[in-house]
Amino acid sequence: MKLVLLGAPGVGKGTQSARMVKEWGLTHISTGDILRQAVAHKTPLGVQAKAYMDAGELVPDFIVIGLVKSRISEVAGPGFILDGFPRNISQAEALDKELSDIGVTLDRAVSIDVDREMIVKRLTSRRACESCARITNMSEGDKCSACGGRLVQREDDNEQTVRNRLNVYDSSTAPLVGYFRDKGILTEIDGSKSVDEVWADIRMTLGR
Ligand SMILES: [Zn+2]
Repeated sequence: MKLVLLGAPGVGKGTQSARMVKEWGLTHISTGDILRQAVAHKTPLGVQAKAYMDAGELVPDFIVIGLVKSRISEVAGPGFILDGFPRNISQAEALDKELSDIGVTLDRAVSIDVDREMIVKRLTSRRACESCARITNMSEGDKCSACGGRLVQREDDNEQTVRNRLNVYDSSTAPLVGYFRDKGILTEIDGSKSVDEVWADIRMTLGR
């Protein structure tokens, strides 16, 4: 199973992809992770990527796509989940072309959808432990139940930042839903339900 996972920040992609890894043995591919690894291992693409990062510039698509392609070609086992990439239609088209070169076709694009105000509520109620970095939410109070450290709201999770991130997502990534629908591989999942219900819906719609 070769999947692309789509959804705005805060819809629960991380939680659901962790289940796919655990239950189905899929390989989780995050562009952030492979970029960090390539830079750390000084691979040819990693060295190029670092030059852009050091200059404070975005790493260009051709480098990211090259890294994704090489990571996918290494995947052994039942398949992968692509998370956080592609982020726009031009990246999606370039990725399709590169993957067809190595005989890989995406099976499904799973889009997890949650109402905007519910996402804002979820993300702004998130809290992080200053000591152990555990993520929880404000219902836990202001003291970490794991280590006793102080729970704080991360800057990323304040309301204005959250709304800005969602606007960025809507303008660039949301059109991908239409792109994958046109290709006939889109699966839409209602992410407003509980974690277990969302997982059950994913399993049912993917026939697993
Ligand atoms: Zn803690």
